[in-house]
Amino acid sequence: MEPDKLDILRKHGYVITGRGSGVKLCHWVGRKLVDGRACYKEVFYGIECHRCMQMSPCIDLCNQKCLFCWRYQGMGPAKGKVEFDEPVEIVDRCLEGQRELVSGFRGDNRVSEKMWQEARNPNQVAVSLAGEPTMYPYLGELIRELHRRKMTVFLVTNGTAPEALKRLEHLPDQLYVTLAAPNQRVYQRLCIPDTPGQWKNLMETLDILPGLNTRTVIRHTLVAHWNIGWEREYAELISRAEPDFVEAKGYVFVGDSRRRMNLSNMPSHDTVKEFALKEAEFLGLDLLMEKADSRVVLLGEKNSRLSVS
Ligand code: SF4
Ligand code: SF4
Repeated sequence: MEPDKLDILRKHGYVITGRGSGVKLCHWVGRKLVDGRACYKEVFYGIECHRCMQMSPCIDLCNQKCLFCWRYQGMGPAKGKVEFDEPVEIVDRCLEGQRELVSGFRGDNRVSEKMWQEARNPNQVAVSLAGEPTMYPYLGELIRELHRRKMTVFLVTNGTAPEALKRLEHLPDQLYVTLAAPNQRVYQRLCIPDTPGQWKNLMETLDILPGLNTRTVIRHTLVAHWNIGWEREYAELISRAEPDFVEAKGYVFVGDSRRRMNLSNMPSHDTVKEFALKEAEFLGLDLLMEKADSRVVLLGEKNSRLSVS
């Protein structure tokens, strides 16, 4: 990676763990350590968010430039120089990086020694930090290595690589596919894919989801004035995927997305909930949980098992 990109990423709080992988402390880790407040995935699925490691095996590769993306988007490998790190190296170095990142919490009198020690030993990994993880060629091996070390894995994809998902010999504990548009017209304008065929790929991913032997979640990032509404159209797409859960999550005005969006693009929790309830009606699903401070609503079938463990 070029030195200027490395500098930017370091300034953004990343620890770069090789040629193209990295780890960054999710702000919820700090919140949980300091004041006990948990992220919505702890509330919904029972993970321990202070033990969650947010990482990416290919930080500078993504085939979309979503307007709502909070990551730095001036990335992309230098021509002809796509280099990948080995799964074992990535896991070792991300764990070291995570320890370095939580080291500053030791001695803070609001943080218990027990929780701090736990934070040094993650048992949950969010493969979702920056970049599109299906562009990493050893993703299955990476998941296997994380499982070997007794960590649960949540993988977030933009859904443009159905072939890579079909090839995964080890599946994550929970597979997220982002569906941020009800149709190709909105998708092209909001998610800005690098080629016109990506919508078709996303549709193919929805179609293969029912055959994947893992928990699946369709996640909407809802951006006011852009992609809220069209509940029937979204529901038709979701029906193809038969996911275990649907998360309707409001866009948050943070990070680099502030260059492309403004505060008025953040929907209120009431707007997110209203959307989710209409969609739930089309899908015949129930509202299982919600977390207003994260503007997120979880849909699924009543009595679904929520915990991943
Ligand atoms: S699950 Fe997501 S929000 Fe929760 S701590 Fe991990 S990275 Fe952060
Ligand atoms: S697919 Fe993900 S990483 Fe890529 S631009 Fe969109 S939000 Fe950002």
